Amino acid sequence: MLTMIAAIGVLTAAAGGADARPAPKQGQLRRFTYQRCTSETLEAVSRLLGVSQTDLEKWNRGSIVSTGGRKSFRKGVSRVIYYSRTAFPRESVGRPSSGTLVGGMNLDCDGDDRGQGWVVSVDRSNLYGTPETIRNIYNAAKRYRAYFRDRGLKFVPLSIGDISRPSGGPLPPHVSHQSGRDVDVGIILKSGNASGRFLHANPSNMDPLRTWVMLKSFIDTSDVRYIFIHRGLADALKTYISKIYARQRPLLRKYLGAFAPDGVIRPDAEHSSHVHIRFRCPKGDRRCVE
Ligand SMILES: [Zn+2]
Repeated sequence: MLTMIAAIGVLTAAAGGADARPAPKQGQLRRFTYQRCTSETLEAVSRLLGVSQTDLEKWNRGSIVSTGGRKSFRKGVSRVIYYSRTAFPRESVGRPSSGTLVGGMNLDCDGDDRGQGWVVSVDRSNLYGTPETIRNIYNAAKRYRAYFRDRGLKFVPLSIGDISRPSGGPLPPHVSHQSGRDVDVGIILKSGNASGRFLHANPSNMDPLRTWVMLKSFIDTSDVRYIFIHRGLADALKTYISKIYARQRPLLRKYLGAFAPDGVIRPDAEHSSHVHIRFRCPKGDRRCVE
């Protein structure tokens, strides 16, 4: 009899909890979004996140389909909702020249070598970065593309080269590119860059408008720490922007600031076929070292 009363008590409590919130045992859990590569299966995502496929299905109604009794993500689904105590770890660790990358995100998730405003360069081998790096590249490329679309000008997509390996670490021949915060982007030539190739540029064959709009699109993400570019090209771009912003003083001041000794643009003797862009440490990545 006592057992029965106790059991009724439990049932009542459970029913009260269910009225207030679904799944009371999720009280300790938090809601997260996992950015899925469209090649990742339901089984793979379930394993990666440490949650059951049944739970994934419950949390992502409408995103999962069943064909012949087999469950899979609906075509094109990239955002996966899940509940957990902690988020799937993604982190930039250490310095770009000696660090690692935890849970690297793939720039070219769908494997078609292109996205909005960019193509993958044939001169690359690894395209994994922090979520912030990947988002900044997507945003910069969209902004870059919009500039030409809005003005009805010929568009040449950005050539994206190496970022980092899936777990970071050494990526020869680069010294850095080890912690998911560095990306190489081809300098744009007046002749265009067929197949996204990185080609040697000099002040005469560089397309100053397209190269500048590319740099500006990255600078405007506000997440860039450094842009390494050959000194001759940096000087040519500085002269170019002094002309195009001659009547727009605030813009001139803002962008000339990028070329100042403490600015983001770092002239060197090496980067003549591509610029090397380094993003700041993502907020919250406490082991990341600038
Ligand atoms: Zn580089």
